[in-house]
Amino acid sequence: MYIKVLIELSAFNIDKTFTYHVSDELKDSIKVGIRVLVPFNNQKLEGFVLEILDDFDNDYEIKDILDVIDSEVILNDELLSLGKWLSDETLSTLISSYQAMLPKALKAKNGSCVNIKYQKMIEIDNLNVELSDKQQQIIDKINETGRCLYSELKKINSSVDTLLKKGIIKKIEIEEYRREKYENIEFPKYELNDDQKNVFEEIKNNLGTDKNYLLFGITGSGKTEVYMALMDEVIKNNKTCLYLVPEITLTNQLLKRIESRFNRVAVLHSGLSDGERFDEYRRIKKGEVDVVIGTRSSVFAPLSNIGIIIIDEAHSDNYLQDVMPRYDAIMVSKERCKYHKCPLVLGSATPTLDMYARSMKGLYQLLTLDKRAGKAMLPNIILCDMTQEEKINKTSFSKTLYLMIKEKLNKKEQIILLQNRRGYSSTLICSNCGYVMKCPNCDISLTYHKNKDLMRCHYCGYANKKVEICPKCHEKAMRELGSGTEKIEEEIEKMFPTSRVLRMDLDTTTKRGSHDKMITSFSKGEYDILLGTQMISKGLDFPNVTLVGILNADNSLFIPSYLSSENTFSLLSQVAGRSGRSEKKGDVLIQTYNPDHYAIIYAKENNYLGFYEKEMKERLYGKYPPYFYLCEVIIKSKEYELLSKETNKIKNLLEGKLPDKIIIGPSMMHPFMVNKIYRFSIIMKYKKELDLKKVLRDLINHYKANSKIKIEVSFNPHDI
Ligand code: ADP
Ligand code: ZN
Repeated sequence: MYIKVLIELSAFNIDKTFTYHVSDELKDSIKVGIRVLVPFNNQKLEGFVLEILDDFDNDYEIKDILDVIDSEVILNDELLSLGKWLSDETLSTLISSYQAMLPKALKAKNGSCVNIKYQKMIEIDNLNVELSDKQQQIIDKINETGRCLYSELKKINSSVDTLLKKGIIKKIEIEEYRREKYENIEFPKYELNDDQKNVFEEIKNNLGTDKNYLLFGITGSGKTEVYMALMDEVIKNNKTCLYLVPEITLTNQLLKRIESRFNRVAVLHSGLSDGERFDEYRRIKKGEVDVVIGTRSSVFAPLSNIGIIIIDEAHSDNYLQDVMPRYDAIMVSKERCKYHKCPLVLGSATPTLDMYARSMKGLYQLLTLDKRAGKAMLPNIILCDMTQEEKINKTSFSKTLYLMIKEKLNKKEQIILLQNRRGYSSTLICSNCGYVMKCPNCDISLTYHKNKDLMRCHYCGYANKKVEICPKCHEKAMRELGSGTEKIEEEIEKMFPTSRVLRMDLDTTTKRGSHDKMITSFSKGEYDILLGTQMISKGLDFPNVTLVGILNADNSLFIPSYLSSENTFSLLSQVAGRSGRSEKKGDVLIQTYNPDHYAIIYAKENNYLGFYEKEMKERLYGKYPPYFYLCEVIIKSKEYELLSKETNKIKNLLEGKLPDKIIIGPSMMHPFMVNKIYRFSIIMKYKKELDLKKVLRDLINHYKANSKIKIEVSFNPHDI
């Protein structure tokens, strides 16, 4: 028997299968989709079996495989073809696609040692002798459940070992799942209201089809309740559910809500240890769960018989992977829905323009929930024009915001404040010569973190002690510019010394479980003010929050991207939705220097359609999605001269071969240098793909062997 094995040659960025011979003794263990260990250039490498050949004509020496790694198939037929599709769609190697689909323990990588964990249990083996009292105690304990942990019995008394020696009891090993236990909280199950029922019925009647739905429901309209009703239905039909969320740490509340409703749930996200991830994956594969809830990569969860895929907060760019293979979990979901003949539900309070435009074209069926479920009303949103209002004591707070906070604190109601920037100051600048401290590895300014007294790069993690003296003009004149969450926290503490402030950003949530602890204690009322980055904009549901303040709505507005208006509108609408989620009416205050900007005005008016129509005009005018597709070719190198030369060559080649595409660039990416690697990009706009993939594939192949130039392709990039 011969097999074709796919191995990873990461240094070359190439796909290759190699043919090996399988000895008679290993023959019976070989299946397509398992991993084997093969000799390769004096190394032992792991690879996936892609094909089995009875015979193979060869005129060179064929080596034998060394071992079979898996007894069960890792890549079943669906995942095997999904990987091929993914590699075609994203122009990445097949091996990188498979690796991206699997948890670390199951990747074809050497040196990963994530093992199955076993528990040593004791069972009765042969009870045929007189027992002492002590021994009888042990036997009684085992008889309670039929099986007992060795370590537990050991605690009772030491005759366990004697019983073992005599063969009266025996040790067995049981696979153990490493799994975080969630507190059991009861959540009410509501009878769906009429609007929810309409949505539910429509999807329920189409459960056997691969229809795509866009559920456009304002925050708090009861989307999650509808998802759960649908999942109930799917499980009743003996099928499984895949439920994607942008981020789990923040969605712990949701997780508990799902776990309180369904028994057989698996959770997959990057916060798990490799062991936990492996165990959840195995539970899914063995068919032990009905619901998988997880982040982006769980779109590849090995569920069979999927009955529905739900993507919550579908507008989130967390669903896009920004390294190769650069995939979009929504796109992958559609492919899986086709395979399983099941519906896809994209849920959002602020659908992306692209999604909404598709629903207008009938590609997605649009379903709406435009009222809040239960008693809550929409919050009252006011703009604070910072060009007119003075800030208090040079802080970031207007008088209006200050007074509103004060009022809410008096009423013992809670407040959420958004400052979309972490650290103390965003820049350190010399007030004498204007010199800005930059990262030595990246072309970006350093952020000052006061509590560690460090200047940090948010791209590569570089950190160094803060400098007082300007490296350029040698004056002692370095000043902090711009405010991050750390500084805002300091300001709040000065203005409201008795208030209890909780800061939530990347810096305060590095410890495992810290998000959850913070959210729990805020919801218990242990803090008055929750201050955070956009991390706090999603999913949170605190009934006692009646004021949301956005300190600087302009931060996201002037990021140079065609998506900046959309992102601003979406962020403001999402954060605003955190206010007034119960009977108490909520307020939202947006501080901005651009009160006339349409993204801000439409967010204030809570007018999605108005924003949609205006922004669609902008996109048409600028030839951007959804009117045009975008494709970005990223060219990277450590050598500037070489990169610049090759980039121009590539541009000429693309212009020659793709005359129907609008080609822009090359331009320096922002930041131009990351980790000492320079980056150029060429952007193409087009209506029809035609030869694009073929030309790009050829281009990638051409540079494969070139270790100095790296080429990546991103379809529909979200950062340009
Ligand atoms: P969304 O996912 O759209 O933000 P949720 O499903 O979380 O909305 O619902 C928002 C709030 O309204 C929750 O507190 C939820 O328990 C409550 N809720 C949902 N559906 C109903 C209903 N039919 N009747 C009463 N309250 C409801
Ligand atoms: Zn850096």
